[in-house]
Amino acid sequence: MQSGWRVGSILGIPLFIDSSWFVILALVTISYGLDPDWHQNWGEGAWLMGFALALLLFSSVLLHELGHSLAARAQAIAVNSITLFLFGGIAAIDRESSTPMAAFKVAIAGPLVSFGLFLSLTGFSQLPDLPAPVAVITGSVAEINLVLTLFNLIPGLPLDGGQVLKALVWKITDSRIQGIRWAARSGQVLGSVAMLLGLTLVLVYQFFSGLWIAAIGWFAWRNAASYHQVSNLQEAILSLTAGDAMSRDFRVIDANQTVRQFADTYLLEENHAPVYFAASEGRYRGMVVVEDLRNLERSQWERLTLHQLVRPLASLPSLRENTPLAEAITQLETLSLARLTVLTPADAVGGILDRGDIVRVLGDRLKLRIPPPVIQRIKEEGQYPPGFQLGSIAQAVSQDRPVLAPKPVQTQP
Ligand SMILES: [Zn+2]
Repeated sequence: MQSGWRVGSILGIPLFIDSSWFVILALVTISYGLDPDWHQNWGEGAWLMGFALALLLFSSVLLHELGHSLAARAQAIAVNSITLFLFGGIAAIDRESSTPMAAFKVAIAGPLVSFGLFLSLTGFSQLPDLPAPVAVITGSVAEINLVLTLFNLIPGLPLDGGQVLKALVWKITDSRIQGIRWAARSGQVLGSVAMLLGLTLVLVYQFFSGLWIAAIGWFAWRNAASYHQVSNLQEAILSLTAGDAMSRDFRVIDANQTVRQFADTYLLEENHAPVYFAASEGRYRGMVVVEDLRNLERSQWERLTLHQLVRPLASLPSLRENTPLAEAITQLETLSLARLTVLTPADAVGGILDRGDIVRVLGDRLKLRIPPPVIQRIKEEGQYPPGFQLGSIAQAVSQDRPVLAPKPVQTQP
């Protein structure tokens, strides 16, 4: 998640505030500002205290996210941003840790920070001679940090406890995807339970804080579902090769014809192929790139043969039929290519591979019905649809780590 306003950066990590954050800032300020006990003791000052508490709550969430971020950074993983939003905060971490133990460290770092804050703020709030409002606020923030610690350790994605569960299953089964599956499933179950519980509280007991529990459950359920989809996608990518995805959307033409003959015969055709390979004596001579014709003087068109014009196969960005699909996806992105040539073991052209071909084969594997016009558009634009950034998914799971604040609206006895 990287929406909202950029409000600066912390230790080089861009910090964003989502508009939904202001809702919570207002809710927390109001719920404490209206607290009868606080009002009795401090009058209108209760509002100021509520506001201070809300800011400290978000500082706590921010520090929690910094915990994850610094643990990731210690593993040379880039942290793209930290965003504060309605339910808490999210650190967007560039890629996943490479071992279960390293993943565990990143997951547990946030709750450890929250627990550390609980201990130190509790200690601070007990200092003698502390002004009463300061003691009350720090004591409350200490309690909130304890709740943050325990709540986020619930073992289901997207919560930190889910990340811990994932690392554990990963360690036991030696499969990261199995780890994600288990933790995502657990997250979906727990999210559903929270929604059910929340709605029961509201509908049966008229206890309206239940709405918040239901909303958190819905958020968790939806996030867990998306983890599930990403792991399905990754599994599909891992099971496929360049040969599975390539298309034969190219034409083989005679390398001995002149450039003029080629232009007259093929370029004037209504549906000319996107790619031409020239061959002679049963051997591929190379790819005919139409731009190369434009750079050639017209007088040369009659004289030169395609054989003299082509780009040899060896000079083309290419891979083998048995190259893993993940590598093909990464190569397209890192080299910013429109397509790759797929070669057979005999160095003949087996096919060509572009982003449309990749989306089509993944769609088939995952039984998603992607309409042919959508595939055609991806082929023409040379870009994946928004929200379908295969480059980062192929390289490793791009991961968002949310921290959820379970009860931002609570009144102090
Ligand atoms: Zn966390």
